[in-house]
Amino acid sequence: MATTDFERVPAVGSDADARDAGTIVLKFGGTSVGDPEKLKSVARRLVARREAGHRVVAVLSAMGKTTDDLLDLAAEVSPRPHPRELDMLVSVGERISCALAAMAIHDLGHEAISLTGSQAGIVTDTVHGKAKIVEVRARRIHEALDEGKIVLVAGFQGVSTSHEVTTLGRGGSDATAVALAAALGADHCEIYTDVRGVFTADPRVVPAARQLTRLSFDEMLEMASSGAGVMMARSVEVARSHNVKLHVRSTFEDAEGTWIQEEDQEMLEKALISGVVHQREETVYRVSGASRAQLFGALAEASVNVDTIVQTGEEIVFSAPVEDRDDAARTLDGLGLAWSSRDDLGKVSLVGAGMKSHPGVAAKTFATLEGAGIDAAVVSTSPIKIACHVPSTQVDRAVQALHEAFDLGSR
Ligand code: ASP
Ligand code: MG
Repeated sequence: MATTDFERVPAVGSDADARDAGTIVLKFGGTSVGDPEKLKSVARRLVARREAGHRVVAVLSAMGKTTDDLLDLAAEVSPRPHPRELDMLVSVGERISCALAAMAIHDLGHEAISLTGSQAGIVTDTVHGKAKIVEVRARRIHEALDEGKIVLVAGFQGVSTSHEVTTLGRGGSDATAVALAAALGADHCEIYTDVRGVFTADPRVVPAARQLTRLSFDEMLEMASSGAGVMMARSVEVARSHNVKLHVRSTFEDAEGTWIQEEDQEMLEKALISGVVHQREETVYRVSGASRAQLFGALAEASVNVDTIVQTGEEIVFSAPVEDRDDAARTLDGLGLAWSSRDDLGKVSLVGAGMKSHPGVAAKTFATLEGAGIDAAVVSTSPIKIACHVPSTQVDRAVQALHEAFDLGSR
């Protein structure tokens, strides 16, 4: 038989008996693996950690804008793509990153294996497009780690209890990484991204925003669900319930990032407010004459992620992400309710664990907004958050005014 060039693969030694410095899970976002050069540099980072003796698991996102491109492609073919097929399509982006990274690692003389979510044992419920991880069957990962391999797991995806490929929602690779860190008993989970960490506000809106060193799970959860783009909210919930410390840091620098961990006394005493986050758009619905249980039951059934709920008398006001608009409209029409919605509002939220024990934050927030001539249409609070829906056009100004009023830039 003739030998062919493409059968030649570089020699790969076995790392199986290297010193064991513990399992680490590293997650790289889309920009971190945005092109072949960046993928190769991720490969070098992983090899360095392996050479330091760690059992290395890396969760990769799709390269750059791949997921958006795939979604656009689907939209060009079908106005309402079948959810199962959409998951089959969008899940390939992460698989591409992992296979390429494995090749790059082989070329560095190390062993690596790429796994789809399904192969990695990420078992989810059956909700296409927004599946939740219900179990991690990590046997195959353990076996590969035992053989000394660097394991690359395709983020954002799993296999449902009815054996279908599912995806976990936008930003879902974070959830994959945190769930794996919990299942593998990793000390913490490293989230590599294109920013240095979590900031007191979006530096594009507030140039004086400061990088935070530490945040509690609760603060990060409030920030992530109120518009801080840096981590998927659901993944922070998973981290909190399994107590997996998170280190959000830059792929492109070696600097220390932001640690997210259990709250301690120091956090409570140090900062009243940790940050101000925003969302430029959030749809606000107004419904009258509905039974609460029926309304929110039906919205939950349709996987609409309801945020703020305010009820006064017969009228219920609630907000939900712009992406859930079609599902929400269909559900409200289906219930035969009279409803209206506003698309011209965004949301500005102040978050801080210290708020719990310090009165006057609400007063200062309202005074600041009033002073800036900004009218809050809906206000809602949690023990560590004050959220105001304000006109989308005034969101940036509200963020700047609050950041300044609470002096978040200097500490
Ligand atoms: N590629 C997917 C997305 O962009 C998942 C992820 O990056 O975490 O939403
Ligand atoms: Mg992405």
